[in-house]
Amino acid sequence: MAEDAERPGAAWWVPDRLEPGTLRASLQHCQGCELYRDATQPVPGEGPADAAVMVVGEQPGDQEDKAGRPFVGPAGKLLDRALGDAGLDPAAVFRTNAVKHFRWEAAHGKRLHKGPKRTHITACGPWLVAEIDMVRPVGVVLLGATAGSAVFGPGFRVTAMRGQVLSWPEESTRPHSWTPEWAVATAHPSAVLRSRQRDEDYQRLVDDLAVAAQLQAGPVTS
Ligand code: SF4
Repeated sequence: MAEDAERPGAAWWVPDRLEPGTLRASLQHCQGCELYRDATQPVPGEGPADAAVMVVGEQPGDQEDKAGRPFVGPAGKLLDRALGDAGLDPAAVFRTNAVKHFRWEAAHGKRLHKGPKRTHITACGPWLVAEIDMVRPVGVVLLGATAGSAVFGPGFRVTAMRGQVLSWPEESTRPHSWTPEWAVATAHPSAVLRSRQRDEDYQRLVDDLAVAAQLQAGPVTS
């Protein structure tokens, strides 16, 4: 797939009116980077529009690309289980991705996931900003390096920062009009699925999500 460095990023397609139907309809037309060309469709975020917690992943996978819905594949199922085990209601969470179109390469007759480049994360950033401004979450869970770098910039290292209570960056890579109170980073569930020590890594994912669950529950009063 040819890459087009001249593409302008998503800002031109993001509507002024931030409500789910308008955002979803506008997203269908986005050509802010070249990823729209080879994907089936863009995949908008999904969940309660007033969710207290937003979960941000990397990009749609093969199944999400076909369904037009986020986290419907194996990683999403594992995420749901981990959210529940951590004490967060999966149905109460708004889930989305840092990049809205599936980036892939063909191999052996299949479409294999290919992680987005920095240029794609930057180009797609206005959609994530719009979703954060629309949902106005109290906290955000960042799944993996792409989601972390979409908020904290390219120097973000999820291995070093996971499970900590992070303050939303004052000088983000892009201006946000809504500032969540906290962020928690952890591994992407797909990394857990690929892991040779899956049980151990699953428990680490749950432990990190439990930090978010505690933050969402608020301080314990005696
Ligand atoms: S990946 Fe994002 S910026 Fe690129 S075309 Fe899709 S929605 Fe637009």
